[in-house]
Amino acid sequence: MNKIYLDNGATTKVDPKVVDAMKLYFLEKYGNASSFHDFGQQAKQALDSAREVIAKSINANDSEIIFTSGGSEANNLAIKGIASANREKRNHIITTKIEHPSVLEASRCLEKQGFKITYLDVDKDGFVDLNQLEKSITEKTILVSVIHGNNEIGTIQDLKKIGDICKKNNILFHTDAVQSYTKVDLDVKKLNIDLISLNSHKIHGPKGVGALFVRKGTNIEKQMNGGGQEFKKRAGTENIPGVVGFAKAVELANDKKHIANMKKLRDKLITELLKIKDTQLNGARGKDRLCNNVNISFNFIEGESLLMHLNLKGIAVSTGSACTSQSLEPSHVLIALGLKHEIAHGSIRFSLSRFNTMKEVDYTIDCVNKIVENLRSISPLVER
Ligand SMILES: *Cc1c(COP(=O)(O)O)cnc(C)c1O
Repeated sequence: MNKIYLDNGATTKVDPKVVDAMKLYFLEKYGNASSFHDFGQQAKQALDSAREVIAKSINANDSEIIFTSGGSEANNLAIKGIASANREKRNHIITTKIEHPSVLEASRCLEKQGFKITYLDVDKDGFVDLNQLEKSITEKTILVSVIHGNNEIGTIQDLKKIGDICKKNNILFHTDAVQSYTKVDLDVKKLNIDLISLNSHKIHGPKGVGALFVRKGTNIEKQMNGGGQEFKKRAGTENIPGVVGFAKAVELANDKKHIANMKKLRDKLITELLKIKDTQLNGARGKDRLCNNVNISFNFIEGESLLMHLNLKGIAVSTGSACTSQSLEPSHVLIALGLKHEIAHGSIRFSLSRFNTMKEVDYTIDCVNKIVENLRSISPLVER
């Protein structure tokens, strides 16, 4: 059997159609979009069309899309950019304990500069506490930043409710929608969201490109100084092949069939893996869960051992998020759910894409069953 890639929460295969669309902009139309000759104008046209595709996908205007080097930069620009533009008047930001490291670290960086940050708790399924959100708001609050679809546990937050609270209190609202993008509908006109972070490499586009939606009229300070690119909000020569690929990836993702298929595979994995004794599903169930995310704790074994044994079988999964799996600290997201450290350590994320098949899922279920049984038979943690 070929290798099975179930780590699409970390990154995805670039769709061959995306590679095809990008080629021209490496080899022939390689101009700088700021140049006035034909090469430059071809690049400018490609940039404008890509921007239009991204804008349309969330019902925004073209001038509200700022291209960045990815989701991390979009998150940094949103949080630091809003904080510095407002620092004279307000100095309080509210976020959650289950954010991506790019939001958490940007927040810690602001704390060092004197900003106050509130990190909201979540319940056992990973939903933020809306009462706590309302209570945390003060007249100094500038911004609320809440992740949409969680990268580790797949829980999808109710953006409408959070947006309404923000609007009522006249506070800006940012969401990191990197994982949910193209999987859950995002309409900036219906939801009261002022800033949205997106990226390309989680949706079968190239790495190193993303975007931040910034609602018209929002005061934001650029974090990258230089030329006047991206409406003077982000300097640097535009990554034309990157944004072309990003836009192509968005167009290709626009097919409800993919989502239905991922859900089928997800639910099969969940149902079958939970039949193994002493397991639990982490994150929400049903419609409030990302269509491609499965996160399961296997008691009495270490996630790392299971990961390595699956790797030997040609199956790629992850423990926690790729960014934190280098460390031996348990995932901050699983700890926020209230999991004990040893349970968090036995957790595995299986993340699907439109390229996965039921055959792959069946084989994976079979392998996990055998490996878990083996590891438990030698585990000192099992009571016998
Ligand atoms: C991957 C990811 C990011 C970071 O995006 P990059 O393009 O890799 O910088 C941010 N937020 C979430 C939820 C992610 O899954």
